[in-house]
Amino acid sequence: MTLAFIGLGSNLCDPHAQIIKAIDVIALIENCKIQAVSSLYFSRPMGPQDQPDYMNAVLSLETNLSAISLLDTLQEIENKSGRVRKDNRWGARILDLDILLYGTEVMNTTRLTIPHYGLKIREFVLLPLAEIAPTLCLPDGDSIRELSQNITTNGLKIHSKLRY
Ligand code: ATP
Ligand code: CA
Ligand code: CA
Repeated sequence: MTLAFIGLGSNLCDPHAQIIKAIDVIALIENCKIQAVSSLYFSRPMGPQDQPDYMNAVLSLETNLSAISLLDTLQEIENKSGRVRKDNRWGARILDLDILLYGTEVMNTTRLTIPHYGLKIREFVLLPLAEIAPTLCLPDGDSIRELSQNITTNGLKIHSKLRY
């Protein structure tokens, strides 16, 4: 089993409900077990500013799926939520599920970059991650606690605690 960290985001069609529903669906993936779920956060959009604020969370998951099978499964969940992929990068979306970390693996293929390339510079990823895994170190040795203490919060706010 591998401990993976997943970033969840939504800013359309009742983001709060989308995130809760996505967590419930992830909990049902075969041979996977959710270990921890962060609080739900409000964050400002990246890129185009003419879109609603986001809700974000991070969860950890014990899984025996390979990283690419996990990506396939998460993309299927995104598609089933009704997410429509558009050309505009970082545009509004119903559900975004990113693999932030997959054990200590480092990979850079056409479909998958792990650790996620935005992990260290996105407050809406790093702060929820630090909430559930403060003592974690990245494969390159960087400490999540230190990274999270040094990042600008950019208005990130806790919305609510989630169960688990
Ligand atoms: P960003 O990747 O900057 O967060 P995004 O989440 O909006 O932007 P998407 O359109 O959801 O980008 O995904 C584009 C592609 O990114 C996916 O089809 C997937 O193959 C690829 N990708 C690469 N690394 C990862 C990863 N660690 N987790 C999820 N998708 C990834
Ligand atoms: Ca993303
Ligand atoms: Ca994505």
